[in-house]
Amino acid sequence: MTNHLFAAMRARMPAPDRIFIETAALDGQEGSCLTYGEALALSGRMANVLVGRGVQPGDRVAVQVEKSAEAIVLYLACVRAGAVYLPLNTAYTLAELEYFIGDAEPRLVVCAPERAAEIEPLAARLGARTDTLGTDGTTGTLMEAANLGDAGFEDVARGEDDLAAILYTSGTTGRSKGAMLSHGNLASNAGTLAREWRFTDADVLLHALPIFHTHGLFVATNVTLLAGSSMIFVQRFDAEAMMRLMPRATVMMGVPTFYVRLLQHSGLSREATAHMRLFISGSAPLLAETHESWAERTGHRILERYGMTETNMNTSNPYEGDRVAGTVGLPLPGVEVQVTDPETGAVLPQGEIGMVEVRGPNVFKGYWRMPEKTAAELRANGFFITGDLGRIDARGYLHIVGRGKDLVITGGYNVYPKEVETEIDGLPGVVESAVIGVPHPDFGEGVTAVVVRKPGADLDERAILKALEGRLAKFKQPKRILFADDLPRNTMGKVQKNLLRDAHKDLYARAKAG
Ligand code: AMP
Repeated sequence: MTNHLFAAMRARMPAPDRIFIETAALDGQEGSCLTYGEALALSGRMANVLVGRGVQPGDRVAVQVEKSAEAIVLYLACVRAGAVYLPLNTAYTLAELEYFIGDAEPRLVVCAPERAAEIEPLAARLGARTDTLGTDGTTGTLMEAANLGDAGFEDVARGEDDLAAILYTSGTTGRSKGAMLSHGNLASNAGTLAREWRFTDADVLLHALPIFHTHGLFVATNVTLLAGSSMIFVQRFDAEAMMRLMPRATVMMGVPTFYVRLLQHSGLSREATAHMRLFISGSAPLLAETHESWAERTGHRILERYGMTETNMNTSNPYEGDRVAGTVGLPLPGVEVQVTDPETGAVLPQGEIGMVEVRGPNVFKGYWRMPEKTAAELRANGFFITGDLGRIDARGYLHIVGRGKDLVITGGYNVYPKEVETEIDGLPGVVESAVIGVPHPDFGEGVTAVVVRKPGADLDERAILKALEGRLAKFKQPKRILFADDLPRNTMGKVQKNLLRDAHKDLYARAKAG
């Protein structure tokens, strides 16, 4: 038996001197390049270190390090050694790490050198060894050990169903869950995406995403590896740097915020994006307005796709064919999508809004050590209940209307936030909005909108309410409009509605008392 995922990567590996990852110079730090040949050798050295540290096939390796080419090589080393790669958000505190390390019981924890003093005792208490990895390609105990060792390594045999990674969900409600992803999950999805998006060894992917999340790690890196393409790593999104690098890249993958910010850059034009062949967006909804403005300014239609930690990617707008703004496209080859009644689970007729469910080789193996949660969300017939509400239109395109838990139920009626947000966003003077349900003494929940205005916009609560009157049924109209300078977002650009609900939870209670 071969190593399922790494064998697929080896099969597509270009000439050894082809650049795998170029790290862009930023903030006075010099740039650097890692070729495929170097990545192969270094991953072999690191895999030998892992084995030397006692990492056995199936053991978890928890990694909390800053973005670097070497961190990606460590992921490859884990795959080759048959270990389970467990990337952790660099923002996690020691208390949060205690939960993840305690839950996943990794054999080894790899952290940034500057955090070793606090993390090492915690890891030791929980039975794990600690190594460190810096961002300059040389520092850290892992690199020191790797540099002394041998590049030759016999990839550990792994089948399609063996785990390659555990990714903890961002978990805005309850405890974060570890999604178990197999070699087959990752290899099949990356292969499909590379084909659907026409990746070749001539492509250069402009990469400004974090690498602890499925988007920047699996979508970007695995697709690159399965096409023999190159990546340019930008440490964190910076519009200036992106504009500077675009003439050397061919594809960009971003969250919607990237596109919104680039649209604010005066240099964005057809000429500035002439070398690019594809712009991809995901991880959060891309406003139709952003899609249209981008097309006007650059001549490129952003390709929006939809996926999640548990399933990799499920749907994508077509490479050739209509990329429809406000939709997440068609099911990927081999992936089935159905919309069901959230109460009964019955499949709904085409066009109706309900729970989005997906099935295919991309869907994960369950939540780490949470059999009840797995059983609650992964049906016996293989369909995963995504938690997203959506509908499929007559042409088969999927429209996401929001997370199930963001649905507002007011006076017994369901209100889909997206519908109200779309109306508000269309008003002159509005940048964007978030519609939430806030506890209400009469209605259970009151539809409430938090709106970001354009600078200098002459728009108040009354004007917005008035404008919505003829456009939305009475029960969908917000009871209150609140204003904010911006919406709270996490690193993946998702609006954190839970924070808004918390901040305004007493809104109607207060109003009544007063
Ligand atoms: P994560 O597991 O962090 O990748 O989050 C997955 C969730 O992000 C999905 O369940 C959706 O709610 C949301 N999401 C991802 N892509 C899109 C998209 N293109 N449009 C709307 N929501 C999206």
